[in-house]
Amino acid sequence: MLTRSQLLKHKPLLMAGPCAVESRTQIIGVAIALKKMGVHVLRGQLWKPRTSPGDFQGVGEEGIPWLLEAKKNTGLLISTEIVDKDQIELVKNVSDILWVGARNMQNFELLKALGKDKRPVILKRGLINTVKEWLGAADYIGRNKVILCERGIRTGADSMRFTLDLNAALVAKHDHGIPVIADPSHTAGRRDMVAHLAYACIAAGLDGIVVEVHPDPEHALSDKTQQVSPKVFLQMVAMVQKLHKLVQSK
Ligand code: PEP
Ligand code: MN
Repeated sequence: MLTRSQLLKHKPLLMAGPCAVESRTQIIGVAIALKKMGVHVLRGQLWKPRTSPGDFQGVGEEGIPWLLEAKKNTGLLISTEIVDKDQIELVKNVSDILWVGARNMQNFELLKALGKDKRPVILKRGLINTVKEWLGAADYIGRNKVILCERGIRTGADSMRFTLDLNAALVAKHDHGIPVIADPSHTAGRRDMVAHLAYACIAAGLDGIVVEVHPDPEHALSDKTQQVSPKVFLQMVAMVQKLHKLVQSK
């Protein structure tokens, strides 16, 4: 069983993959490309909490064998967002890392159920939550197996989809000693800004990033404006590695 400290040996932790698993060929193809780029963890989102019921809801359980195949072919670690506590058991053989999305950060029964599992958990910050509330959510799961993920919050500013709150990420990391990664994709909401935000997070010394990468972003079934192609991501990874080296050498 993977532990949080094993996961954090990867510096910076690189997580990537499509917004949602859409098909066997999509997820296996992108997993192979990402592995070659040095990514450590694949986003393997089977269930998608969406604003409208008519929006693509994810492939659900049908995608489990595809993820198993992607894992077997590449050796990548797999992370899956859990939106219902029954899914914790369903993904027990495929998902090395469990994940709580922003909209479920204060779904306390879900957090308690995740607390009973031993796997590391990525805990995204809720859309308008304070650091205190974020830490409270981490305590439900068990702080020592949580990696926090800053994904941008709602503020008065509307220049991008959300506002990257590096302040909160740094407070959580430095004052409370919890590892923090960031999600520049959901923060930006537009693909041309993702790399810039990712660099800011690495320069600030965060523990890693999670980026939405889709083999054909224009035709993605969700979040198509912000997903980047593997080719664009490759350039991003090169700069992230350079920046990380520079930050570590200080
Ligand atoms: C996601 O990462 O798939 C996602 C939906 O992001 P968030 O929960 O941060 O909105
Ligand atoms: Mn998304």
